Amino acid sequence: MVDRNKTLGFRFRHVKGPLFARQLGQCLIVEVVDENHCPYDCVYCPLGPTRNKSMTPREFAAIDQIKEEVKRKLHFKQQLDFVVLTGQGEPTLHQGLTNIAAWFEAHVHSRIALVTNGALLHAPHILHGVNRIDQVQLSFDAVDDETFQKIYRPHPEMRFDAHMRNLLVFRETFRHRLWLQVFLIRRVNLTPERLQKLARCIRQLCPDHVLLSIGPLPACPDYRNGISTEDRKALVRYISEATGVLTEFDDLHDGALLSPRQREAFALLERREFSLHMLAQNLSCTTAETRALLAPLLDAGAIHSRTVQNEPYYYLCHDWCRPSLKYQRIREEELPEIDFKL
Ligand code: SF4
Repeated sequence: MVDRNKTLGFRFRHVKGPLFARQLGQCLIVEVVDENHCPYDCVYCPLGPTRNKSMTPREFAAIDQIKEEVKRKLHFKQQLDFVVLTGQGEPTLHQGLTNIAAWFEAHVHSRIALVTNGALLHAPHILHGVNRIDQVQLSFDAVDDETFQKIYRPHPEMRFDAHMRNLLVFRETFRHRLWLQVFLIRRVNLTPERLQKLARCIRQLCPDHVLLSIGPLPACPDYRNGISTEDRKALVRYISEATGVLTEFDDLHDGALLSPRQREAFALLERREFSLHMLAQNLSCTTAETRALLAPLLDAGAIHSRTVQNEPYYYLCHDWCRPSLKYQRIREEELPEIDFKL
């Protein structure tokens, strides 16, 4: 069998790809932490039980080794949409993470994403350089201490209230894009009471996008929880309406708020502004069809338009300095009723 991490005798330990990810496009994956170090031991962890439950930052992957691997990977100067900082464990445990981000910023001209559980986003070694990162993808599944302990099985020092306070400290500082990835588990965080708590937390964190996932956990049969298409749609609608944040399922099933075509249009607009004609050309459809695709996104406030020389142009909201007035208003509103079965 061919070892994809080995090229001409050189073994890539930390850098993988480039590969295509639906949400981010063409990505170079950089694993800055190894040996399964993480402050959590999530019930759904694809790495299996956490071997090293730790909250102490240190240098895991050597920065020189990462640079060497990137130079070998990118010698053909591929176009990348994102460099994704992640790990076989929690990447914010790397004490030099923001220096790594700075090096990528200077030498690899693509945006930088961080995939994190958020446990150390408030720590000084992250907070001081966090705005070098263009997009933080934050796992956010727990809405109180009971769900925090049950889903994450965290380091004994960790409690939900402190975690939430720390995330708000990070949110005050971070000016770029925040995506929340929420894994819903029936009878754990998927109950009417906890869904309302989730909506309140989302209002506080003001993310740019919420991605919901649900489904059986192969590693954890006790948590199996199928959910119908109608219920998935109702969930998406509830979170979108209660928080004002664009919400969808993190897969292509028909419960998603966006059709695959709308997702495609949204993904193009995430990269840059497009005129109606250019967008139609990229989506291989007519301008009338493109307008119809974009109408719900405009209504939801997810995208905006302006007219330049009689041509409509579409772009994403670049209001990174949250909370905006819209979010302020939504925060003060009553939460909608949950009128569907969970
Ligand atoms: S935060 Fe990520 S790496 Fe850590 S236990 Fe959970 S799923 Fe695994």
